[in-house]
Parts: sequence; structure tokens; C-alpha cells
Amino acid sequence: GTVPTTRTTSWHRTRPRGTARTVASETIGFKAETRKLLDIVTNSLYAEREVFARELVSNASDALERARHDALARGEDPGRLEIRITTDDADGKTLAIEDDGRGMTREELVENLGTIAKSGSKAFLEGLDGTNEEAAANIIGKFGVGFYASFMVSDKVEVISSAGARGDGKAWKWSSMGDGTFTIEEATESDGAPARGTKILMHIKKDQKHLVSKWGMETVLKKYSSFVGFPILLNGNRM
Ligand code: ADP
Ligand code: MG
Repeated sequence: GTVPTTRTTSWHRTRPRGTARTVASETIGFKAETRKLLDIVTNSLYAEREVFARELVSNASDALERARHDALARGEDPGRLEIRITTDDADGKTLAIEDDGRGMTREELVENLGTIAKSGSKAFLEGLDGTNEEAAANIIGKFGVGFYASFMVSDKVEVISSAGARGDGKAWKWSSMGDGTFTIEEATESDGAPARGTKILMHIKKDQKHLVSKWGMETVLKKYSSFVGFPILLNGNRM
């Protein structure tokens, strides 16, 4: 994939003055094809919104598989390998999906989530000629739209990731409102990054709260959690 073009860097302080350390928050424009896909995903795909859960769980599972493989190849213990899903039943404003997978470095966040070079989304876009909703729904069923499906139910998506020993010792946060840009910055303690792995924190659209309740997630996850080779915990309970 190619690196997105528009970049603006703003500087802000993450700690009180005196103890402060300045950290760059960089805003990067999505490539045109990504913007096009996001626009379809957020504004015209109303059917089967629940597929977002399948996509995110499948990404978590892929990342866990790679973490296990990497560790075993080095003769190390892969440690805990789980997918943890946390609903916000008080007001349904957020949904978190966390894994102990391979995680992403800053560069990987920018590359993997900023471009659609090697994902199912590419097939989705290529299969779309003239964007009619029915065609889009068929293609989504066939290929999936990958990570961007999270924007079907979210106003804003934050991805907090740490690559563990592969990384720079820091956790990074990617965030986007699904519009033209995403922002990348160092995660803070309150972002709650896993030691190694990824947390997807979704800020749920007002009219999609029902999908992400504990009950809603239980229903959706039951459909395919049996195909996932790692434990899935919903609010701490094994599915
Ligand atoms: P695909 O899974 O088909 O590659 P996605 O759009 O679902 O496409 O994801 C894009 C890329 O983002 C993945 O290939 C992977 O590199 C990265 N990614 C997404 N979710 C995670 C995750 N939970 N942990 C690590 N990497 C991830
Ligand atoms: Mg995927």
C-alpha cells in the first residue's frame, strides 16, 4: 500500500506543565478509495449492521493466532490469549473489543488502518460498480468490509494498540470519526492499552445502542463464536 498524503501535525501537552512532555498528535487524510468505502459503510449500508462484530472478532482472532505463532517460533510462552468484549449497559454509548494479539506499532496502525491495500475491503470496493445498496449488501456478505465495518455502528472509533516486544515500548492510539481523516498519537494511561494487543473502543451511534447491549452482543456472538479458536469473554463471562 501507499502512504496517505495529507498530514498535519499538532503538538499538545499530555501532562501538567513542569512535568510536561510534548507528544505529537498527527492527523492524516485517508486515501480517496478509503474515503469512498467509509462513505458507503457509514451512510448507505443499513442492512446487516451486526457484521461489524464478526469482522472485529475475526481480526482479533487473526492477531492472536499470529502472536501465538510468533511466540512459539521463539520458544516463548505466548501468555494469555483472549478476546474480551465489554458492553456499556448503563447507557450503551461504547463497546470495547480487546485482544492479547500481536498488536500494532505506530507505523502499522497508520498503514493497516489508513489504507485498504490488502483487506477484504479492497474486493468490496472493486466489486462495487455504481453504488446501489443491494449490490453493496451482497458484496458485504461475500467479502466483508473488514475493520471499517465498525463505522456502521459508530460515530467514532479508537484503536489503542501495543506491539509488545516488537514495538517501541509505547501504546499508540488511532482514532477517527469515519470522515476524511484519522489521528494518531501516543496512548495515555486512561486509554487502558493491553500489554500486548489491541483494544477497539467504539463510540456507538445513538440509534444502534440496541445492537451493542449485553443481550444484543450475546445474540450476535453466538452465531459464529464457535468458529473462533480463542476464548471470548463477554463482560468477563466466557461465551
Ligand atoms: P483484513 O483482516 O482482511 O486484512 P481488515 O480491514 O479487517 O482487513 O483489517 C486490516 C488490517 O488491520 C489487518 O490485516 C491487520 O493488519 C490490522 N488489524 C486489524 N485489527 C487488528 C487487531 N485486532 N490486531 C492487530 N492487527 C489488526
Ligand atoms: Mg479482517
